[in-house]
Amino acid sequence: MVSFHGLQQALYQLIFSATGPTGDSGQAKVSEFVASAQPDPSAHELCVVAPQAMTEKEKKIVIKAFDLGADEAKAKSIIGGRREDFVKTFASRLECTLRGVTNVSPLRDIAEEWLEEEIATLARKHVQIVRREWASFPEKPFADEEAYRQFRPAYIKAGYAPGPVLKEIVACKLLNTDVKVQRVLRDKLQRIEADQQDAVAHLKIGCHFDPRSQYDPDHPDRKILSNHALGGAIDIDPDDNPVITDTKVLDAIQQLTGVDPRKAYHPAAGSGSDIGEFRLNDPEVALAYKDAETISATLKQKLERFFSSQDDLVKAETKVGEVPPGHDEEAQQAAENVRLAQHRLEAVDGFDAIRVLSDSKEVQGQGGLKGWAEHGVLNVPAEVVGLMHTAGFIWGGQYFLRKDYMHFELRTDGSDTDVTNLAKVDVDRQRSADVFADLSAPSFDPVLPADYLGQ
Ligand SMILES: [Zn+2]
Repeated sequence: MVSFHGLQQALYQLIFSATGPTGDSGQAKVSEFVASAQPDPSAHELCVVAPQAMTEKEKKIVIKAFDLGADEAKAKSIIGGRREDFVKTFASRLECTLRGVTNVSPLRDIAEEWLEEEIATLARKHVQIVRREWASFPEKPFADEEAYRQFRPAYIKAGYAPGPVLKEIVACKLLNTDVKVQRVLRDKLQRIEADQQDAVAHLKIGCHFDPRSQYDPDHPDRKILSNHALGGAIDIDPDDNPVITDTKVLDAIQQLTGVDPRKAYHPAAGSGSDIGEFRLNDPEVALAYKDAETISATLKQKLERFFSSQDDLVKAETKVGEVPPGHDEEAQQAAENVRLAQHRLEAVDGFDAIRVLSDSKEVQGQGGLKGWAEHGVLNVPAEVVGLMHTAGFIWGGQYFLRKDYMHFELRTDGSDTDVTNLAKVDVDRQRSADVFADLSAPSFDPVLPADYLGQ
């Protein structure tokens, strides 16, 4: 059996018996593909035509592809696609380079096998990396290693190295609830809980660490990682503080209350970003809270009237069924009462907008509109929003383009040195929906955490 290097040398000699590439415009592009493994600088195209060895850049791309959820076949097709593009681009030059070679196919077959072997080796290494990460988590944030392996690409796509992020997830008790959150979030909340018992004792903790994605409010066709998946967010009293993202609902709320629920409350409003620059005790937070109070109180008042009229209608309709047969005059009166009740219901201030709210799946999914009539959409006290803000949280009631009254998350804008831990591991925010297309683009230059490359 011929050794790898022996065969490699033989291939070089065979294919590059003609002249190597000349210094034209293609030179820079060619050298981009050249790896340190390349023994002969005049044989630049070899690794493309007869890919017996992957370049370092290609190895990086394969590992990145595994990180993003690709399997071995996908990784192979990405590298194959890149090489094919290259051959197309340099077809005329390659033809010249290959002059004199009568049968390249057997060489290609050997090269294919080598490529497969190398990709399989990288795949095994990748499995080990995932296993090592899993073993390093003090609190297992997923049911098992397999569940972690499946959700892990979502972290990478969102630009986070999952190992360092999930290592910081701790289990603890907050407001009598067992939760899993980022260590830094736990410390802040526990301080508030200890110092402000009177203000926070009655609050219930909702969602904490939860590995899930959500639609990007800036680009509704894309999905991004929820901050709950980082353990950097916590929901307070979700039953009484809904999340509102449905455009029709937001329109209806504006119509009913006169307050625009999509209004932005921070200087970064124009950027469409949720996380702008916040100063402590920002008057914008107070304004956001005041608007939320107005929305909540006005909705409550109008919905109470609506439901009361709706109850009257139901009562009138019940009466119709109770009229004994033969009592024509009574029956006529009952029917007239239904008509009047119907009329009164439709005349309720904001009837059409309320119908929109009541038809919304989002509203129905959070307990329905009756709850809004009973307690409004806000029960987190201003004092608590203020405490959380001062401690370094951003409140979902301040969000631009939507409202998430239950939601508090750690600010990651770098303005507070205590809460930048999450931002630090933000490797390269990759929000594109078609990550694989980006991967195979020739300009793609992956950034990988050091432990992938140092061994
Ligand atoms: Zn939340």
